[in-house]
Amino acid sequence: MTGYDCVVVGGGPSGATAATDLAAAGHRVLLLDRGGRIKPCGGAIPPRLIRDFAIPDHLIVGRAVAARMVGPSDISVDMPVDQTGEGGFVGMVDREVFDEWLRARAVASGAERRTGRFDRIERDGVEGAIVVYGERPGEPEQRVRARCVIGADGARSRVALTTLDGAERMPCVFAYHEVIRSPAVDALDRGRCDVFYQGSLSPDFYAWIFPHGDTASVGVGSANKGFALRDAVGRLRAREGLDGCETIRREGAPIPLKPLRRWDNGRDVLVTGDAAGVVAPASGEGIYYAMAAGREAAQAAGAFLISGDARALRQARRAFMRAHGRVFWILGIMQHFWYRNDRRRERFVTMCEDRDVQQLIWPAYMNKQLVYARPIAYLRIFLKDMRHLLQTAG
Ligand SMILES: Cc1cc2nc3c(=O)[nH]c(=O)nc-3n(C[C@H](O)[C@H](O)[C@H](O)COP(=O)(O)OP(=O)(O)OC[C@H]3O[C@@H](n4cnc5c(N)ncnc54)[C@H](O)[C@@H]3O)c2cc1C
Repeated sequence: MTGYDCVVVGGGPSGATAATDLAAAGHRVLLLDRGGRIKPCGGAIPPRLIRDFAIPDHLIVGRAVAARMVGPSDISVDMPVDQTGEGGFVGMVDREVFDEWLRARAVASGAERRTGRFDRIERDGVEGAIVVYGERPGEPEQRVRARCVIGADGARSRVALTTLDGAERMPCVFAYHEVIRSPAVDALDRGRCDVFYQGSLSPDFYAWIFPHGDTASVGVGSANKGFALRDAVGRLRAREGLDGCETIRREGAPIPLKPLRRWDNGRDVLVTGDAAGVVAPASGEGIYYAMAAGREAAQAAGAFLISGDARALRQARRAFMRAHGRVFWILGIMQHFWYRNDRRRERFVTMCEDRDVQQLIWPAYMNKQLVYARPIAYLRIFLKDMRHLLQTAG
């Protein structure tokens, strides 16, 4: 049986990042991905991701320089991304090309790549785990031995479900989108993301139109199982004059809403990315966090491979939550309060008109840091926030 230091299951942004870092550090890595499916995704990424993970320019197929927030009464607020004069934008990637490029980078860094669907981990009393996977349905199972396993196999991860307690209880939003051929420039602003906070389009999340140059993603999310996501996207397209555009793909997937309390099994398995539940509440942003968590997973697995001490695996979650836990907490509260009903959504969109709010949101999104450079402005936001809340409650 072939042996590896680490088998990374899942070649999305998280797994490919973990495999790249571990292989570059000299470990023997297998990147196992089932292949055959483009990840359904709006593809919006912040500049910090482009910087931290050295993403080349040709993968950025669109640059949105503004967002239009639309409330229940059709009130709309335009928010320019660049609040600080540093040329801010929201980057757009096509996941088919982006993910494949990341996997190729892992191989260039020294990882071996195989196509196969992870099924389970077996134990035979010898050190390490035996990873069992199938290449194609009906064909014999394959086995490889690994000193550790990183599960980066997305939401409802089979690695997490088969090795970690409580993984089956991870709450999710279900998101559905249609990739369409972009219409003429005047029917769709290719430099702007549109975000719709309207109960008729999503009772508990939001709907979006993200421009990707020649294509666009029109989608909606909701945790409400009875809500008809497809109909909502159909209505949104009709309303925005996009119903006549060619539909290239229709697809959906769950988005996890909460990080798992434990990412490792205390022995030799660690999960990361959607498999660990690291998607920002309120925004559903997951690509940056998947890659950041993948990097932490590689660090922790690397320390484990050197020391043999399984406690090193815990460091991945700790480091991630130290860096992003507070933002997740704030966004969770935001989602809880402002996405409840149309009255609150209307207030939320109105608040986005506020320059102080815009100057807080965009730098935080772009750089993934809460910057406390203007404490007076934050005090003002807090007071306005409270006033809006009280008015909404009244
Ligand atoms: C409709 C929609 C729109 C979204 N829009 C955005 C957005 O605009 N911006 C943003 O930042 N985030 C967005 N997200 C979230 C984002 O897509 C995810 O958070 C991100 O892809 C997570 O990366 P990952 O590597 O953890 O998992 P994934 O990207 O899901 O990758 C998992 C990989 O594991 C593989 N795999 C799965 N099961 C197995 C198995 N058993 N064996 C082997 N391989 C397996 C899959 O093939 C896949 O390659 C969106 C999500 C959805 C559903």
